[in-house]
Amino acid sequence: MEATHDVLVVGAGCAGMRAAIEAHDAGADVAIVSKLHPTRSHSGAAEGGINAALGNAGDDSPESHAYDTVKGSDYLGDQDAIEILTSEAPGDIYQLEHWGAVFSRREDGKLAQRPFGAAGSPRTIYAADITGHVLIQVLYEQLVKREIAVYEELFAWKLVVDGGRCVGVISWDLLNGGLKTVGASSIVLATGGAGRLYRATTNAYACTGDGMAIALRAGLPLKDMEFMQFHPTTLYPSGILITEGCRGEGGFLINKDGERFMQKYAPNALELASRDVVSRSEQTEIDAGRGINGSIFLDLRHLGAERIIERLPGSRELAMTYAAVDPIYDPIPVRPGAHYHMGGVETDNDGATELPGLYAAGEVACVSVHGSNRLGGNSLMETITFGRRAGRAAAEAALAAGAPPPVPDSVERDAEREVEALIARQGTERPWQVRDELGSSMLENFGVFRQGDKMEAQLEILAGLRDRYESVYVEDKGEVFNSDLVQMIELGYLLDLASVMLTAGLARQESRGAHSRPYDYPDRDDENFLKHSISRWRDGGPELTYKEVRMTKWAPEERKY
Ligand SMILES: Cc1cc2nc3c(=O)[nH]c(=O)nc-3n(C[C@H](O)[C@H](O)[C@H](O)COP(=O)(O)OP(=O)(O)OC[C@H]3O[C@@H](n4cnc5c(N)ncnc54)[C@H](O)[C@@H]3O)c2cc1C
Repeated sequence: MEATHDVLVVGAGCAGMRAAIEAHDAGADVAIVSKLHPTRSHSGAAEGGINAALGNAGDDSPESHAYDTVKGSDYLGDQDAIEILTSEAPGDIYQLEHWGAVFSRREDGKLAQRPFGAAGSPRTIYAADITGHVLIQVLYEQLVKREIAVYEELFAWKLVVDGGRCVGVISWDLLNGGLKTVGASSIVLATGGAGRLYRATTNAYACTGDGMAIALRAGLPLKDMEFMQFHPTTLYPSGILITEGCRGEGGFLINKDGERFMQKYAPNALELASRDVVSRSEQTEIDAGRGINGSIFLDLRHLGAERIIERLPGSRELAMTYAAVDPIYDPIPVRPGAHYHMGGVETDNDGATELPGLYAAGEVACVSVHGSNRLGGNSLMETITFGRRAGRAAAEAALAAGAPPPVPDSVERDAEREVEALIARQGTERPWQVRDELGSSMLENFGVFRQGDKMEAQLEILAGLRDRYESVYVEDKGEVFNSDLVQMIELGYLLDLASVMLTAGLARQESRGAHSRPYDYPDRDDENFLKHSISRWRDGGPELTYKEVRMTKWAPEERKY
């Protein structure tokens, strides 16, 4: 075994780093395992901002923030968790600011706040349109200041469960090859999302849902996995995100005839309706032939050059570099793309999972504050607030429990044999072939709109892809940076997650939030489906049960924007 710590955090994005900082400050000896250098984590790509009811740009309160979030979740969010998020968010923002986060400011010196979709007041704090980049740098500085150990370029592969507790993590060493085992009294999963399940996505190549799949394979339940958010403005054709901040600053969505079509679908909120509503409106326009090349357009021209250059410089650069369009002069071609997984490893409000010693925070987790549809700006806030809470709880439990039992030698030996067999496997399929087909078929059959027969067809496609996975081989037999091996393992994770999502999606016979079935079940059905799906892996496939939504003060109402 390589080392032992009180707390081991897997993942070094905003959630993982915030958890590690808090666990350290609670007195624990902490380390992080990450397949990427921390500052390359996907949180760094977040653009538009982070939500907290500071009230700097209009009347606001944690209660209004909570109401907007509950409504945005299509009433599937757990209301006690949402109230924790919205009441603790302002303090967490000031903490980030005191650590040196260079948020944009108003003329009067207060933190600036911009409007975001489905928010009753401008509440999104931002650093121009590079908010995630700023947060990642600030958190990394705090990590370095505390001398928290980071095992970089370790690919976490398996949880070690012994005596009913999670006691360690086995990882593949990307740089040197071979397996490394790190033991801990508490382990926090913070491995981010799984957008790479889809061909058109805003997510980086590394967003392969590893933590969700690792937990699933260790017997843990995943919650609300059918809900994948499609962001309305991803650049055509690359899928790179153009932030909601563009619409927050006043951008219009237009079709090929120049019509501002959101007037038909959300007459009050228009482009700032919630993401599920805007993505569906766009897809309806595209399906009706009012797009070009499967895209509609984000028009910023009326904002003027000065405002675009000052407030949205990153978005302008992305449009110019990747679509050859300067938004000062021309509309940007955009379409809905897979963006954020509302589902994840089921946790309580302190990040604890049902397995003693295991916690989860950030996009890998489902607390659930987003229900069936996340509001823009709430995810970064979740990584910070629930990262902090998970870090604190993990540290307190670890300090109370004392040193973990050593990881049994036999577990390490079994893992070594398994990885050797993977590398030695003979076959005919390359991982990327199966991965490409998975991404294309998920987009086709489990995208913005869903219907029973297409989901059934996708389950069959998945069965075929799973069969072909058995013939995937690792061409590179070397140890150093064997990305072939990693791709193969990631592909296995993605296939498991796709099965879980499809099974939960097919069973949810209603339309709610990001799960829209306009042809067979167009309405929300609170009587039968105001409940979380809970998926476990049993006997080679997903097993589905349901759990009540935790309500505090908001009864479900019809959702209009
Ligand atoms: C382009 C884009 C823009 C966004 N903009 C916003 C925004 O403006 N506001 C907002 O609220 N939300 C935004 N979001 C969503 C938000 O940024 C993410 O949900 C959030 O940052 C996820 O943070 P995380 O810490 O959970 O995961 P990540 O930041 O993805 O970090 C995951 C970490 O886990 C590690 N990891 C993964 N697998 C393994 C493994 N097997 N072994 C070891 N390490 C592993 C990675 O190395 C990484 O360090 C955006 C998302 C995208 C894609």
